[in-house]
Order: sequence, then C-alpha cells, then structure tokens
Amino acid sequence: MTKRQLPPLRYAGQRRTIIMITLSQRTQKMSPSYIREILNATQQPDMISFAGGLPDESLFPKQRLQDAAAKMLADTRCFQYGETQGDPKLREWIKNHQIPDTLEVIITTGSQQALDLIARAYLNPGDTVLVETPCYLGALQVFELAEASIITLPQTISGPDIEQLEQILQQHTPKLFYSVPDFHNPSGRCWSLETRQAVAHLLNTYSTLFIEDAPYRALRYEGDHIAQVSDLTDAPTIRLGSFSKVATPGMRIGYAAGAATCIQPLILLKQAADLHSTLPIQRMMYHLLADGLLEEHLPRLVHHYREKSLVMTHMLRKTLGDRISLSDPVGGMFLWGELHGISAHALAKASLENGVAIVPGDVFYPSGHEGPEALRLNFTHASISMIEEGIKRLTHAANML
Ligand code: PMP
Repeated sequence: MTKRQLPPLRYAGQRRTIIMITLSQRTQKMSPSYIREILNATQQPDMISFAGGLPDESLFPKQRLQDAAAKMLADTRCFQYGETQGDPKLREWIKNHQIPDTLEVIITTGSQQALDLIARAYLNPGDTVLVETPCYLGALQVFELAEASIITLPQTISGPDIEQLEQILQQHTPKLFYSVPDFHNPSGRCWSLETRQAVAHLLNTYSTLFIEDAPYRALRYEGDHIAQVSDLTDAPTIRLGSFSKVATPGMRIGYAAGAATCIQPLILLKQAADLHSTLPIQRMMYHLLADGLLEEHLPRLVHHYREKSLVMTHMLRKTLGDRISLSDPVGGMFLWGELHGISAHALAKASLENGVAIVPGDVFYPSGHEGPEALRLNFTHASISMIEEGIKRLTHAANML
C-alpha cells in the first residue's frame, strides 16, 4: 500500500503571502487600556503596586479552597456540560442568601461578563447610557465597545446629585443607568440611604434600566449595611454580584439577578458567548459558600483590609499634607485622592520610576471627558510594610516634581 502524499504546506525559500483581514469598525476603535500598561510595568522586580484592584493573595482561604475542590472532585458530573444559566446548586445558594427569591439569576464568568451581556442585550449603537464619574473602567470599555452615547453625572460624597439626576432622566431618558453604590471603584464612595431612596423613587417614574454593580458590598469596614437601590424600587433593575473580592478573582464567578424578563435575554446571549461558566469552579464556589466562607473568612478579610486602609490614609495625610484631599474609605479596595498643585500624570510617571505604581484619576472618565487631578490607590494588595515603603517612594516622587 502506498502512503498518501500530503502536499507540502510551503516550499523552502517560498515567500509567504501576508493576508490582512480588516477588523470590524467596533474593534478598530478600541485602544489598550492605560491600566493594563501600568499593570505590565508592575511585573518588574521590587515594584510596589497600588495600581490594580487586587486582593491580598496571602489571605486566600487555602484550606477552604482545598476542601471545596475535594468535594467538587467527588462529583464527576461537574465535568459534563451544564446549564447556561449556571450550576443549580450555586444559583439556589445565591437565591437563598443574596437576592430576593422572586428574582432570576444567571451565573457569569465574573460580573464583567454580566456587564458585557447586558450591553449586548440592551444597547444599539447610539443608545444613551448614564454613568457616574469617575466610573469603573471595565464598564466604560463595555459601553464604548457597544458604541453607546455616554452621559456622565459627577459623584458627590454620598452618591449622585438628585436634582441633576432628575434633569438628565427627563432630558435624555437614558436606556441604562450604571452605578456602583457600595464602595465605588475608583472613588471608594458609598451612597447614603437617603440618596438610594431618592434614586429608587426617581427610577419609578422614568423608563431606564438601572444596573446596580456591587462587587465590594461585603467589604464594609464601618457602620451597617445599607439597602440596595434595587430593593427600594419597582423599576426594572439588574443587580450584579461577584465573588472575586470575597473568595478569589481567578475563579471568575459572578452573577446578574433581576426580573425573569430582564435576565432571559442574557441567558440567550451567554449561550452564544461560552455555553456556560466553568462548572467545576462554580461547584467549588458553591461548596466554599455553603461551608461558611462569608461567616468565617469574610470578617478576617474585613479586619486586615480595614487596617491597611487606615495605615495608607494616615501615612499619605502625614507625608503629602495639604497636597492631597483623601476620601475616608469605609469599605472596598480603593483610596481616591484629589491633588492640589501636582499633576496626576506627572506624579504617576515619577512614582513608577521610583518603584511604585498608581493610577491617575482621569483614566476613569469616558474618552473626550476631562478628569480631575486625582489618584486611585489600591490598599488591599500590598502588605502593611509594603504600603509604608510604597508611600515613602510616592512622597519622594512628589517632592521631586
Ligand atoms: N465591577 C466593578 C465595579 C469592579 O471593580 C470589577 C472588578 N474590578 C468588576 C465589576 C468585575 O469583577 P469580576 O468580573 O471579577 O466579578
């Protein structure tokens, strides 16, 4: 029997033809994010990073992760295809513990995927989206990719200004209003109960879908939890939850919850995106939660993160004095500092040269909008001694400007 000859793919010395395929117009408009570039720089040895939104991996619940993995491995059905909407056990846990049980929930690959699915489901190019400023960068990327027309509403210390919000709702009737009422990224701010009630009341009058993104909600360092806006209104809402900050971000488990009519389109779109989020990891997350992660591990996280936020705030106030006005974070992962007489970009560049990474505030504004001279600093990732060293380096950089 003669072997079938396969034609050679390329002859030695033959010139390779390069065929260029044009990108979609949407993709052509995308540019690499400034944060990604800073995060690349943080890979250098001895660099201290206050730039990313990373948890402290020394606090990852190792034993609990191992126990949850062992329980998951005992059920090999986890390695089969599963439901697009998510692991029924995890969905049931979420319904019993985190959302009203009348709501529908879909498990997503991080809450970031939920944002992407929402934009795909609800936005046509040119549709109006209202965001607070500063705004979570990942949300801006999603809305810009969807070619939405983005309207901004500046934050006050306790949430949006209600009169301004009403004017915008009246004039523009945005399709979506995206917000992070609990310990905002990047500003760390938290909406007061009065603001939440007023927003909830306004939403009842205007047909805008309210997206309540709450990945930092469990990380509260002072005071009592405040009701979610979604619980205070009859208007259509989708709330986003994430286990990235209370378990681990690498597991990529988040969810979107709302009335069935709001969630069904997301299920349809997720089917096209990835069939379902990885089932073994969903099941591990279920075991982590069912075995008391939030009751036992969360208080430990809160204790450490609170201490770190106090150390960073105290040091910055001491060393930069009246050159910076700082938020007093009562939760979350970030400090927001408005600079006086210092350029944020110049400081970020000089700090990087001094071995510490920070993010200038205007990155958190939609393209074409001017941001303030401000900084976002993450206080959860570095150890206390690294925070102390990092603030020394930052101050040194500021003194050189
Ligand atoms: N929303 C906000 C406000 C965030 O800060 C983040 C992550 N930094 C996300 C959503 C996405 O989180 P994940 O996809 O890890 O759940």
